Amino acid sequence: MPRVVGELAVSGSNKAVTLADGLINKLIKEKGETFEIGFPETGYFLPLIYATLGKEVKTLKDAGGIVQIAKSLLKKVPENDKWDSLLNDAVDSGVATAFAAELIEAIRYATGELPAEGWQGFIPDSVLRSLGIQLVDGRISGVAVIVGAAPDARTAERIIRELQEKNVLSLLVGSSGEKTFRDQLIERKVQVGLDFYIVPIGKDTTSVIHAANFAIRASLSYGGNKKGELEKNVNYCKDRVPAFILALGALDDIKVAAACAAIRLGFPVITDQKVPEIKKTPFTLHEALLSVSDYSKIVQSALLAREIKVKIKEIPVPVAYSAAFEGERVRRQDMHVQFGGKFSSAFEYARSKPLNEIEDGKIEVIGPEIDEMEEGSAFPLGILIEVAGRKMQLDFEPILERQVHTFLNEAMGIFHMGQRNMCWIRISKEAYKKGFKIKHFGAIIHARLHDTYGKIVDKAQIKLYTKKEDVEKIVPEAVKVYEERDERLAGMTDESVDTFYSCTLCQSFAPNHVCMVKPERLGLCGAYSWLDAKACYELNPTGPNQPVKKGEVLDPARGEWKGVNDFIHQKSNKTIERFHGYSIMTFPETSCGCFECVIAILPETNGFMVVNREYAGPTPAGMKFSTLAGSIGGGNQTPGFMGVGRLYIVSKKFISADGGIKRLVWMPKELKEALGAKIKKRCEEEGMPDLFDKIATEENATEPEALVKFLQEKKHPALTMPPLM
Ligand code: SF4
Ligand code: ZN
Repeated sequence: MPRVVGELAVSGSNKAVTLADGLINKLIKEKGETFEIGFPETGYFLPLIYATLGKEVKTLKDAGGIVQIAKSLLKKVPENDKWDSLLNDAVDSGVATAFAAELIEAIRYATGELPAEGWQGFIPDSVLRSLGIQLVDGRISGVAVIVGAAPDARTAERIIRELQEKNVLSLLVGSSGEKTFRDQLIERKVQVGLDFYIVPIGKDTTSVIHAANFAIRASLSYGGNKKGELEKNVNYCKDRVPAFILALGALDDIKVAAACAAIRLGFPVITDQKVPEIKKTPFTLHEALLSVSDYSKIVQSALLAREIKVKIKEIPVPVAYSAAFEGERVRRQDMHVQFGGKFSSAFEYARSKPLNEIEDGKIEVIGPEIDEMEEGSAFPLGILIEVAGRKMQLDFEPILERQVHTFLNEAMGIFHMGQRNMCWIRISKEAYKKGFKIKHFGAIIHARLHDTYGKIVDKAQIKLYTKKEDVEKIVPEAVKVYEERDERLAGMTDESVDTFYSCTLCQSFAPNHVCMVKPERLGLCGAYSWLDAKACYELNPTGPNQPVKKGEVLDPARGEWKGVNDFIHQKSNKTIERFHGYSIMTFPETSCGCFECVIAILPETNGFMVVNREYAGPTPAGMKFSTLAGSIGGGNQTPGFMGVGRLYIVSKKFISADGGIKRLVWMPKELKEALGAKIKKRCEEEGMPDLFDKIATEENATEPEALVKFLQEKKHPALTMPPLM
C-alpha cells in the first residue's frame, strides 16, 4: 500500500466528516434535532449506513450519532508504513468518508437542495429493481462509476461508446476542475439517460455515495441480507455487483478517500493519473488500484480487473450494435423513415417451415429499398421470418418473433416498439447516412437468431415487404395465427399439465429464490409464461428453467404438490419447504426483487391491494411500492405480502385459496385501466360483473379509513368474506 494514497485518504476523510458534522450542527440549531432527513422513494433509509451499521437514520439526531461513528474511524496520519496497516487506515478513512457523504447528500435532499437539472441524484428503489433484472439476465454486463471528466470531449465520447458497446451501465459523478463528463458527452451530442446506459448522478464527489448505496441495496433487496449484516452486505457487493470506478482527471484527497471506500466494497479503481498502483487486497478480486494513461486501454483494463466478461456479437450492419442502444429513441426530426405505428401498416410474423423449404441467410426486400424512401416519410413494412430446425416447435414461434423488438432496437439509430401487427419502427438519418438499409433488418434477425437460438434454428430466411398491397395481403394470416397462439395459453389450466417449470434466473441475485411457473401463473417479473419457460428449457436443457413434475397433489385448493415442494426445498438451498401456489396467506411463493406488482394485505378491509412498480404514489398500506418491495424481496416467504407478475392478477388462480379477485380492494388507476377488459371478464366469471367498479384506486382513497368507507358504500364483497386473519 503506497503511503501517499493512505495520506490522501486520511486527509479526505477528515475533511468530509468535518463537513458533515458542521452541516448537521448548523441545521440542528436552525431546525432542531427532530428535523427529518432521508432520500426519496426508498425503503432503506440511508442505505449504506442502514446496510453496514443497521441504523435507521431518520432525523438530525440520528445523523449526529453516525457522525460519532465516522469520527471514531478517522486517523490523523497513517499509523505506520506497513502495507496492511496503511491499507486498513485507507479503507477506514474510505468508510468514514462514505458515511459522511451519505449524510451530506441526505441533508441536501431534506433542505430542498435537489440535484441540478440533468442529474439523477439518489437512485430510487424502483430504478434499482429494473436495473437489477437487467444485471441478472446479462443485458447489463457491468457498472462503471466514472468520477471526474476526460481530458477532452472526444475522449469522453470514445470511452462511453466502448462502455456502451460492452453493455456496461455508466454512472457519472463529480467533475475535473470545471469540466463534467456529462457536459463532455452532451457537447459530442451523445444521448444521455437511463435508456442509453448513461446516468449522470451528481456534480459533487460526495454524490458518488449514490452509486455505493445503489450497490448495497442490491444486497438487501436481492441477496436477502439484513440491515447491519456488514460482512454479508459487503461481500455481496464484492461477489455479485460487477462494478468498478474510472477516476479521470486530477485526484484530490476526497476523491482518493471515496476510492478507498469503493475498494472496501470490492470495486477496483482505474485512474488515468500517474499514481502508485495497489495490488490485490483482501477486499478485491484482483488489483485494487490501477494507473492506465492510455485511454484506448482503460476500459479493457477495468473489465479485466473486475473480471467482467462481455459476449461480443458481430452483426453485419454499418452501425454500432449493442444492448446499450436498446432503449434509444429516434425523434421525429432525426428520423429518415418510419414504418407502422399510426402511420402505415406493418407486421412481424415468424413461422416455421420444413428444412428443405428454407434457404438459410436469404434476405429479400420486396418493394422499395431505403434509397427510394424520401426523408421523413412513412412506408408499410412486413417482416416475415421463416425458420426451420430439427428441434423447432410451434410453441417457439412466438418466442422467436418477440425477439425482433430487442434484435432491431440494439442497432444504433433504429427504434422499435410494439409487436405483431402493432409494431412501429424508425430508422434515423444518421443510420441512413452510415449506409443502413432495409435489408439490414433481415441481416440482424438472421445473425441474432443463429447466435441466440442456434439450438432450435438451423435455418432462417427473412422477407421484408415494403409495398402496401403485399403487407395487407399477409396481415390476415398473421392475425389468425396470433389469435390461435393466445388461445393456446388461455385455454390451458394448471390441472391440464403434469409439469410446471422453475425459473432460477434470479438466483444470481437472490440465491434462494425460485419462481414456479404454471400455465395459470407466470413468473413474477412478467417475462416468463409457462410456454416461454417450457420453450426455454427445450432451448437450454441445463439452464434456469427446469421441468418440475407436480407429483402427488397435497392440497388442490391451496395449490400444493409434493413434487413442487421437493424441488423448492432443494433449489432454495433448503431454506423453503413448502409452496402454496394459490395462497398469499400460507406458504406464499417467494419474491426475488423484480416483481411487476406487489400484493399486500389490508387488514382493515379484509382484502388485498395490488400496486405496480410504475406507481410511485401513496397506497392504503401506508407504504409506497418501493418500501413494500424492500420488505419482501430476497427469496423470503412473507405471508400477506407477495410479488407477482401483472397478468397473474387476472388469472383464475389469483390467490384463489384466499378468495381470489373478490378480495381485491385497491389498485392504482393506471394498472386498473391497463388490465381493464381482463379484470371485467374475471369479474363476470365470478358472477359479479359490477365488482370492477368496487375496486378502489388512488382517486377514491389512499388511506385505510377512506378506503373502508368507499368499500362500504360500494358494498365490496371482501368486507363480508370470512376473516383473513
Ligand atoms: Fe427471475 Fe422469476 Fe422472472 Fe425467472 S421468472 S427471471 S426467477 S423473476
Ligand atoms: Zn427476479
